Parts: sequence; C-alpha cells; structure tokens
Amino acid sequence: MQHAKQVITILGATGSIGQSTLDVIARHPERYEVFAVSGATQLERLVQIAAQFLPRYIVVLEEANAALIRAQLKDRALKSEVLVGQDALIAIATAPEVDAVMAAIVGAAGMPATLAAAQAGKKVLLANKETLVLAGQLFMDAVKASGAQLLPIDSEHNAIFQSLPAIYREQPYASSFDSAGIEKLLLTASGGPFRTRPFDTLASITPAEAIKHPNWSMGRKISVDSASLMNKGLEVIEAFWLFNAPIDRIEVVVHPQSVIHSMVQYRDGSVIAQLGSPDMRTPIAYGLAYPERIEAGVKPLDLFSIARLDFEAPDLQRFPCLALAYSAIRQGGAAPAVLNAANEIAVDRFLAAELKFTQIPQVIEACLGQLAHRQVTCLQSLLEIDADTRLLAQQLAAELR
Ligand code: NAD
Ligand code: MG
Repeated sequence: MQHAKQVITILGATGSIGQSTLDVIARHPERYEVFAVSGATQLERLVQIAAQFLPRYIVVLEEANAALIRAQLKDRALKSEVLVGQDALIAIATAPEVDAVMAAIVGAAGMPATLAAAQAGKKVLLANKETLVLAGQLFMDAVKASGAQLLPIDSEHNAIFQSLPAIYREQPYASSFDSAGIEKLLLTASGGPFRTRPFDTLASITPAEAIKHPNWSMGRKISVDSASLMNKGLEVIEAFWLFNAPIDRIEVVVHPQSVIHSMVQYRDGSVIAQLGSPDMRTPIAYGLAYPERIEAGVKPLDLFSIARLDFEAPDLQRFPCLALAYSAIRQGGAAPAVLNAANEIAVDRFLAAELKFTQIPQVIEACLGQLAHRQVTCLQSLLEIDADTRLLAQQLAAELR
C-alpha cells in the first residue's frame, strides 16, 4: 500500500521516549517525515538529530543554547531553523503542515504545547501523562471539540487501548463502561526496584538506587515515580481521563515481570490483555501507524524463557504515593494538579539528595492539605495552582532537610 508521508513534531526529542520515537521513524523513512523537534538540554544530540532527520525546526528553551546550536548547524551546512521558548513549542505543535505530535516532554512543562496540539486537532501521541493529571478535563474537552485523535503511548494505556472494543476506544465519551460491557481496567505495575526491600531501609534509598528500574530504561523523573509507585498513581488518573473510567473500576495489579502491559476485564468474564517485551518502541510504533502495524525493532516475546507470570496486590503502606493519587482524583478540582506539582518538586529535591525518599509523600500530602481546595476555573487558574504548589513544596522540602 502507498502512503502519503505523515509529518511529525516530536516534543522532547532528546529524551528516552523521544529517542525511541526517532528509532522507530528511522526504520520507516517512506512513511514518516520529522517536521520539528524540541529539547531542553543535550544540544549535541539535537544537532545529531538535525543531521539525521533534517527537521525544518529545532526548539530549545534558551537563547544562549539556540546560538550554540545555530553555530554547529552552520558548520555542518544544515538548514534547520532554531526557535526559542514556550511559544515556539506551541508553534511546532500546531503548524498546519503537521499531522501528528509526539508529546514526550517530561512534567507539567509539556502541558501547554500538548494541549495546543489537541486544540489544533492533531493526532496526539501522548506520552506526557502529566498533561492529563494537571489538566485532564481541559485536555479531554479540547480533544472532543477539535476531533483530535488521541493515542496513548504510556505502555499500560496503550495496552488498554488495544484491549478495548474499537468503538469504545475511539470515542470513550460517547459511551460508558456499562453499555460497553466493561467491568474494570487492570493496570499492571512492576512494583519498581523497592517492592521487596526491607521496609525500615526505605528512608536511606539513594537517587542512584531509585533510577535503576528492574525492567524499563526511562528518564530520571519517571524512574523515581516508578520506584515510589507515584507513576502508577499518575497512570490511574491518566486512565480515568483517557478511558472515561469510573475511578473504582481502575485496579492496580503488581506484576513484577512487566510482560502483561495491562488488561480489560469484561462483564462476561473475559479478560483481554496486551503482552510484549518491555520496550517503548512497541506502543510508539502502534501510535505512529494506528490502525496498521509496523516493524518496531522490538525483540519478540519469548514465553518459554519468561516461564512464569506473578501477580500481587500493591502495598499502600509501603507506597503511600499511590493512595495519595487515588484520593486526589476522587477529590477532583485542584487536587490532581497539586499532587502533580508537589511530586515534581519532591522528586527534583530527592534527585538532588536534599530530600529522603520517604519524605516525597510527606511533601505531597502537606501540599494537598493546604492547596487542594483551590478553585479551578480555567487554564490560568490551573497554572497558578501549579506555580503556588511548587513554591510551597520547595518551602516544605527545605524545612524537612
Ligand atoms: P526524559 O527525561 O528522558 O526526556 C524528557 C524530554 O523533555 C527531553 O527531551 C527534555 O529535554 C525535555 N524537557 C525537560 N524539561 C523540559 C522543559 N521544562 N520544557 C521543555 N522540555 C523539557 O523523559 P522520558 O522518560 O522520555 O519521559 C517523557 C514523558 O513520557 C514523561 O511524561 C513520562 O512520564 C512519559 N513516559 C515515559 C516512558 C519511558 O519509558 N521513558 C514511559 C511512559 C511514559
Ligand atoms: Mg507506564
């Protein structure tokens, strides 16, 4: 079959998801064309990307970095134009030439451009889960209003998407779990590196230990989130919005092998799952080619070498962040935005070795207590809540030192 080339913007191209996306794209030059890429740091890598994929635009956050890249591009006779700042991120996410946007910036910083892509009716490949935690209602409203196609890249949500009936996954808000015969979503979690570590040693966890995930290789922030199970908490909220899922019908199942990437349980007793090697190129390739299937460079699953699959319930005492996330989405309003911002600061402080691992949930809980009652009326109010939470979390973290 002949394809018109899909024109793609990659927000966060230098990160773990961004690099995996470029890896899949490089396998299919006849199908995909890179229109624009962004990166906050790793300028060398941006220049390499420019040389390999010849994007029209490169976006960075600071003018000084832009100047450095322009000089290197000039030396190599590369023609990419270098733009700077949040407005430029929005411009490359919404340009009329663009078909699909890979939203792979980490954290709430990725929200404005991701939301703009949805408002512009793009095909949105959503890796940036924080957008849904911070602005779930606004984002889903934008998707519905513009007719944007939303494809979840987070492996669990991609698995659920693949396991849902086609009519439900395409328009979850035109239907309900009950009318689609869905009992619940079973969101699998590896349990992270500290699932079996002696409880009384959790306070001494170092950043190096926390970013060493047993099954997945990922950016630093999401690796710490995986270790605290906040990642699963953020994913519960992500599933709530993506799939119009009642919160009591999203269940977390700890599954240490990370082979089943999540499941949908139906009324008739069927459970449909998606399995695979833990490699993000699978969901990325699925999102890029949907509804077709393309080669992704992923090692085929070898069930004989895996031999067994284990399951257990999450330990909420050991991992209070998961309970905090459930409680924040139940409370609604500002609570998920507060949860997200407080977590970003707490993780940042932990990575700087200025906060203990076990103090991460303490900072988040205190922020929720003080700020979750705030009114959310519009995007501006959400951004204010996000900013105020960051200030408070910084203060609390400094006091805890
Ligand atoms: P990463 O840290 O490896 O990469 C983050 C990217 O965002 C980089 O390109 C970085 O330059 C850019 N960035 C960082 N701060 C920025 C800012 N303030 N403004 C603009 N750009 C900024 O992260 P990652 O692991 O690739 O994760 C990206 C997103 O995908 C996260 O939301 C994460 O939760 C989600 N995700 C990642 C994985 C994974 O396997 N890595 C899996 C599921 C979901
Ligand atoms: Mg995930």
